[in-house]
Amino acid sequence: MNDIVKEESMESLWNMWFTELHHQRVGLSLKVSRVLYSEYSDFQRIDVIDTEQFGRALVLYGSIMITEKDEFVYHEMLSHVPLHVHPKPEKVLIIGGGDGGALREVTKHDGVQQATMVEIDKQVVEVCKQYFPKVGGFDHPKSRVVIDDGAAFVANTDEKFDVILADTSDPIGPAEVLFQKPFYQSVYDCLNDDGIFVPQSESPLYHQDSVTKIYRNLKSVFPIVRMYLAHIPTYPSALWSFAFCSKKYDPLEDFYPGRVVDMGFNYYNADIHCACFALPGYVKELVSS
Ligand code: SAM
Repeated sequence: MNDIVKEESMESLWNMWFTELHHQRVGLSLKVSRVLYSEYSDFQRIDVIDTEQFGRALVLYGSIMITEKDEFVYHEMLSHVPLHVHPKPEKVLIIGGGDGGALREVTKHDGVQQATMVEIDKQVVEVCKQYFPKVGGFDHPKSRVVIDDGAAFVANTDEKFDVILADTSDPIGPAEVLFQKPFYQSVYDCLNDDGIFVPQSESPLYHQDSVTKIYRNLKSVFPIVRMYLAHIPTYPSALWSFAFCSKKYDPLEDFYPGRVVDMGFNYYNADIHCACFALPGYVKELVSS
C-alpha cells in the first residue's frame, strides 16, 4: 500500500472521542485528535486533550473546565460585568481559576493594582502554564498566585478586596465548600463596604436544585443578588450562569455604558452587559425563593 493510501487509512482508523456526561443521561462528545496529559493530582484527575472542534481542552475529574475556542466567553463574563460596575476596582481576588484566564481578563483593567488568584491545586497551574500558554495571565506584573484552599484563605486573611470572583469547579470535591454559606460570609467580610462578589453559579437547565440552593445561600448574606447568563457551548447545556452579589451597587442602575472601553473583548460589551441580566421565566422561578 503506498504512503498516501496508508496515511488516509490511518486517518480513518483514528476515531477517539471524549464524552462528558451530565446526570448519566445526556452528554457532550468531542472528537479527540491528541491526548497530551493524563495524571492525578492530590485533588483530582487532570487531562489535557486536543479536540477537532474546540481546540485544546482542560478536563478536571472528567468535566471540561476550559477549551481554547470558548474560554473567552466565560472569563470575560465572569470578570468584566463586576469590573465595569465597581467605580474603582483596585484589589481583586480570584478564588480557583487555576487556568489563569480570569487573571488575564482582570489585569486588562488599568485601574486594578493587584489581582490575587488563590488556587488549591498547584498541579493545575503548572499544567495550564505548560499546555495553555496563551490563556493564563500569570506573567502580568499585577498578578499574584497563592496556592491554598480558597475557603481557608478568605476565612483567615485580613486583606480587603473591591471585587472577589469565584472561578471554581462544580460543587463537588475540593470546590464543594465554595458553594456553602460560611464561605459566602467570609467573602462578604473580606470585601470593602462597596465590594462586589461574583461566583460562577452552574447551569440553570441541568443543575436546578444546586442553583436554587446557591442563590438562597447568597441572598442570606448579600443585600443585592442577581443572576446573569452567558452562552458557553462546551459547558453543560451551553447555558451558564453567574451571580452578581453586591453590598451596594446594582449591576444595571450603577452601570454606565460609556465606561466600557474596548480591551479586545470578543463577547462582553455594553449591550451584552444590559441584556445578560434578562432571565427566562423558568430561570427567574429558580432564583426567586
Ligand atoms: N471555568 C471553570 C468552571 O466554571 O467550571 C473553572 C475552571 S478553574 C480550572 C476551577 C479551579 O477551581 C480548579 O483549578 C480547582 O482546582 C479549583 N478549586 C477547587 N476547589 C478549590 C478550593 N477549595 N480553593 C481554591 N481552588 C479550588
